[in-house]
Amino acid sequence: MGDCVFCKIVSGGIPSKKVFEDEMILVFHDINPAAPVHVLCVPKIHMESINELNISNIGYVSRIFEKMPEIVKSLGISEGYRVVSNVGEDGRQSVGHLHFHILGGRKLGFMG
Ligand code: AMP
Ligand code: ZN
Repeated sequence: MGDCVFCKIVSGGIPSKKVFEDEMILVFHDINPAAPVHVLCVPKIHMESINELNISNIGYVSRIFEKMPEIVKSLGISEGYRVVSNVGEDGRQSVGHLHFHILGGRKLGFMG
């Protein structure tokens, strides 16, 4: 956890372009966008991936999805977008802190 990039972004040790923040979650622009709009939604506590979700921490994910309608509206992409969470090596997860990508701003290609 000490070396986790997203924990450092949450604590302010690494700067980010913030889109939304509350006591549980942070949403910020991806540094290497794969679409005209590409933001990352992260819980403010460290967890590796969806594989670590359970009854005691699912509230962080609920908050991300509860706020998503207003987040995509503020980004101007509520008409269409994609939400992705990569898990593990086969899923091509490169940062080991749970995150949901929101991609939009153009007609996206098919999955995979
Ligand atoms: P994933 O490959 O699903 O683990 O996604 C990690 C994402 O984090 C990639 O899209 C990276 O471009 C993004 N990323 C890595 N470091 C930073 C950073 N310092 N600020 C913003 N986005 C980052
Ligand atoms: Zn972390």
